[in-house]
Amino acid sequence: MKLLRPLAAAVLITLCNACSQGPAGSSGSAAADLILVNARVYTLDWDDPAPDGTIMPGAPHDGSGWHPDADAVVTRGGEIVFVGKTREAMDFKGEESRVIDLAGATVVPGLIDSHTHIFGLGAQLDQVNLVDVATEEDAVALIVERAKNVAAGQWIVGRGWDEGAWANRYPDKELLTQAIPDHPVFMGSLHGFAAWGNQMALAAAGITAETEVPVGGEIRLGDDGKPNGLFLNRAVQLLRGAIPDPSTETLTNQLLIGLDRMAKDGYVAVHEAGLDSRAMSILEKLEAEGRLPIRVYAMLSLRDEDLIRKWIARGPDTDADSMLVTRTVKAYYDGALGSRGARLLYDYSDQPGHRGIGGEGYGFNRDLMAAAMKAGFQIAIHAIGDAGNREALDILEAVFRDDPSTASNRHRIEHAQVLHPDDLPRLGQLGIIASMEPPHAVEDKTWAEERLGPERILGAYAWRSLRETDANMTFNSDNPGSDHSIFYGLHAAITRRDKSQEPEGGWYAHEAMVSDEAIRAYTNWSAYASFREDETGIIEKGRWADLTVMDIDPFVLADESPGDILSGRILMTIVNGEIIYESGI
Ligand SMILES: [Zn+2]
Repeated sequence: MKLLRPLAAAVLITLCNACSQGPAGSSGSAAADLILVNARVYTLDWDDPAPDGTIMPGAPHDGSGWHPDADAVVTRGGEIVFVGKTREAMDFKGEESRVIDLAGATVVPGLIDSHTHIFGLGAQLDQVNLVDVATEEDAVALIVERAKNVAAGQWIVGRGWDEGAWANRYPDKELLTQAIPDHPVFMGSLHGFAAWGNQMALAAAGITAETEVPVGGEIRLGDDGKPNGLFLNRAVQLLRGAIPDPSTETLTNQLLIGLDRMAKDGYVAVHEAGLDSRAMSILEKLEAEGRLPIRVYAMLSLRDEDLIRKWIARGPDTDADSMLVTRTVKAYYDGALGSRGARLLYDYSDQPGHRGIGGEGYGFNRDLMAAAMKAGFQIAIHAIGDAGNREALDILEAVFRDDPSTASNRHRIEHAQVLHPDDLPRLGQLGIIASMEPPHAVEDKTWAEERLGPERILGAYAWRSLRETDANMTFNSDNPGSDHSIFYGLHAAITRRDKSQEPEGGWYAHEAMVSDEAIRAYTNWSAYASFREDETGIIEKGRWADLTVMDIDPFVLADESPGDILSGRILMTIVNGEIIYESGI
């Protein structure tokens, strides 16, 4: 077994600067900022695998498997200045250089999640998390802790108490009101079918014994005949509706919480899928203040017409050095497969007569999208069903015909989840990137075939089939709907198995990616999807010093024990040569 966990605690040792003065030790400006040594560096500076997954001859791969192609990286001024051997890397050492012995940890190009919802992730992380909390008393204790950091009168929102497990002993407002008298509290249940609030929340919502109970809902009453703080089904909204929209300060804080989490989880950049005017102004302010910890590639929401018109007048921002780049419009063509909103060419297998919804009926604004394309914007269009994908391709193709200059903007189909066999080759032919989520395949596998039947499922989550038609691809999480852990994503991509290793052998395993493809899809293929393939995505002299360090070698594990990829951990995240996250152990 090769270096599964290099050192038991994967210790990051900073060598004493005075101990080993290399030749460049006193050379001033030529000295490095950061020297990473004794690492397993995979530069990805070799050719992409063939469309069938065959590894190219230049890759560091032989009969005994994968080998890192460098063991040291040196950065200066935000750039990579050397990649190679540890001994030579030490030549760059100056008095101010920080040398880090990575003790066999793996370094890959900085990870890029190419479809995220970081405001949503931050909002989720900002809530009191009651998932797996066993009792009402434990839950109240957690809420009391949170209340210490929230100004009196402000709402405290949480979710995750299990309405199934707690069904025989639903909580009520008594203890909650006693413990948290000065903040309105809303605690949603795990599956969203119940809510629990304190008296201040009920008062804010104007709920009294006289409140009308909505059809399909229930307001539980106490012994005194008054609402007891527990709401079920359609009554949940009575309480939820009283929570005010978050302030700009709250949203800013939540965005930073989300971005910090991504940094901690190894990501140097995200492509944020669907921003409205308010979200954009928050991002722009943070960028101007130098407060964005990782790079953000913004996709403007086509649903915000004022914002799109403003950007059409202004033109795309192609400043690739910026921490915030805005040159993409996110369009929404159809709904989701699970809720049968995705637009299908034929009826849902499990709902005859129903084909989902898409296009204008779904609020899609074709003319506005075409105007954005003609103004030079990249389009990232959400399409899930086979009809949704076909129609989205038809529309893009029609705009290309109308104005051929629009065809070169690397348009993307977000999800590209179900494709008719006739449409599979069209992405490659039209130069459209398939932007897909490995987690979706392993999460949807329990019901996707019921929706689609045994034939259409063959064109669903069809990563290999798409590659074989020469489509460019990028992988991402679509968080917070799915877990953005790179280890989960790589595992799903390589094995087509879920976190419990189900099913044996993988779900439609012929569509799986090899490790070289999966890692590229989260690094240099994501860089391509954002026009940054010359700056990042590969570890090479002259590129941005954006790097991710992890405690497993995913190349080796993919061949030898892919299940162990799930237990990987991020040790360090480096953006512009700055260590923005470093694990404490
Ligand atoms: Zn999304």
